[in-house]
Amino acid sequence: MTVRVGFLGGLGEIGRNCAVIEVEGKLALIDCGLMFPEAEMLGVDLVLPDFSWVLDRADDVECVVLTHGHEDHVGALAYFLRELNVPVYGTEMAVAFARSRVEELGVEPDLRALETNVWVEHGPFTFTLVRVTHSTPQAAGIVFDTPQGLIVHSGDFKLDSTPVDGEPTDLQTFAGFGRQGVRLLLSDSTNAEVGGTVPSERTVGPHLAALTSEAEGRVIIACFASHVHRVQQAIDAVTAAGRKFVFLGRSMVRNSAVARELGLLSYDDADVLEMDELMKLDDSKTAVICTGSQGEPFAALSLMAGGQHRHVKLDDNDTVIISATPIPGNESKVSRVINNLVRRGVTVHHGRNATVHVSGHAAQEELKTFLNVIKPQSFIPVHGEYRHLVAHAKLAGIMGVPDIHVLEDGDVIVLDDDGTRAERAVLPAGYVYLDGSGIGDLDGALRDRKHLADEGVVIVTLGVDLQSGDIIFGPDVDSHGLTDEPDEVHKLVTERVIDGIKSLDLPLDHDTVRAKVRSMAGRAVKAHLSRRPVVFPVIIEV
Ligand SMILES: [Zn+2]
Ligand SMILES: [Zn+2]
Repeated sequence: MTVRVGFLGGLGEIGRNCAVIEVEGKLALIDCGLMFPEAEMLGVDLVLPDFSWVLDRADDVECVVLTHGHEDHVGALAYFLRELNVPVYGTEMAVAFARSRVEELGVEPDLRALETNVWVEHGPFTFTLVRVTHSTPQAAGIVFDTPQGLIVHSGDFKLDSTPVDGEPTDLQTFAGFGRQGVRLLLSDSTNAEVGGTVPSERTVGPHLAALTSEAEGRVIIACFASHVHRVQQAIDAVTAAGRKFVFLGRSMVRNSAVARELGLLSYDDADVLEMDELMKLDDSKTAVICTGSQGEPFAALSLMAGGQHRHVKLDDNDTVIISATPIPGNESKVSRVINNLVRRGVTVHHGRNATVHVSGHAAQEELKTFLNVIKPQSFIPVHGEYRHLVAHAKLAGIMGVPDIHVLEDGDVIVLDDDGTRAERAVLPAGYVYLDGSGIGDLDGALRDRKHLADEGVVIVTLGVDLQSGDIIFGPDVDSHGLTDEPDEVHKLVTERVIDGIKSLDLPLDHDTVRAKVRSMAGRAVKAHLSRRPVVFPVIIEV
């Protein structure tokens, strides 16, 4: 009986992780994540997987299984469930994070929290979650027991032997499956180019504590709100130094409450204050734990850095610890925040100048260990840019995995009694953009936006008598984004457009006039400024 796994996202980009497993003609989604737009995706808020193929087979879709609660794994869930509200499985923490995101968008989800190492049967799917360590608590790998053997998905993981919650990656359980025989492994490739092993999350705490204890004024610690163990270590550092703190940032407040309710985050109520109470204390007795480690422009940290925060005005007595590294695409935003802080005289420690951050993704030696434990027949690197996938495939080759496929979004792996084979580009898997309130394919619009942003726009308004060819009024020329002193180029465009209209055969017709205006104006600007703006002719027939 044939089993297929198709990939809608996450293979060739960091983000929008989403795969579909097919057993007995039924479908289950593995994760349902979003991607943050790249710089050239102008005006785009979020990038989603293309669900069209899955939705075309809506009757076959059984459920969604989540590896963990990060945005790149659950962030698109609301947009999927809005179309097709199927049950969603995950660890307690994963479904709790998913719930807050999904309900925000007005969807009432059927979320089912699972213990790890418990088999679930749903339709033709039999699966279990297996604990892994990662930069959010209760992350899991997924093991499917299929008619074609075991399929193991690592989820996002590292092999942290001393995690903050004392719950290391469950290598024994994974090894048990390895001994049983794993038909296919899908594994996290994020750090496949990084040699060695990633240090334990626990190593961050002492550095946070040392930097906090030597700080004189306020201490601001920024990190991902979903990184509960980091938040815990930040709390421990500031309270050990005798400071009271506030949580700042919507997701920090929300996630901390969720994590505390689940018993994954602990602090004394006496240590956390409201902002106005905190402001009454001496600076040296205060701390802020906040979002904004990615330089998000409206996050608390950016506002503080820009001197625009309502309550917290930072100065040269204060210390900011950015306990994260920028994810790809956010480097310049984070750098701007650091520059603004340094300009205020603030002491800034961040992932590049201090050991205040470790990655949540396994490096090469850990990936090799995992491959060695699972010993799969076939291997597909997932969760990474193309270079990361290829690097991970090479590691699998070194480890002697017999059958390795580097796949991309839209590809499908087919497992049947004849073996394992890849089918390329068989699923629609392009970017779906969320833009304002609309969702859709914006490739044309994005090309226009980029063209407008790069080259500017020229608007030529012209009243013309089509019979006689006389220009009754205009051409009026306006432009945006061309040059700060447009008079000269406007004059040139006017002259060329008049010449162009005069050269046309009578009687004129609307389309010919438009085309002529466009080409003459375009050429004039190109000759004068070496730019190729969007030319927008407005022709009024009189
Ligand atoms: Zn993750
Ligand atoms: Zn991820």
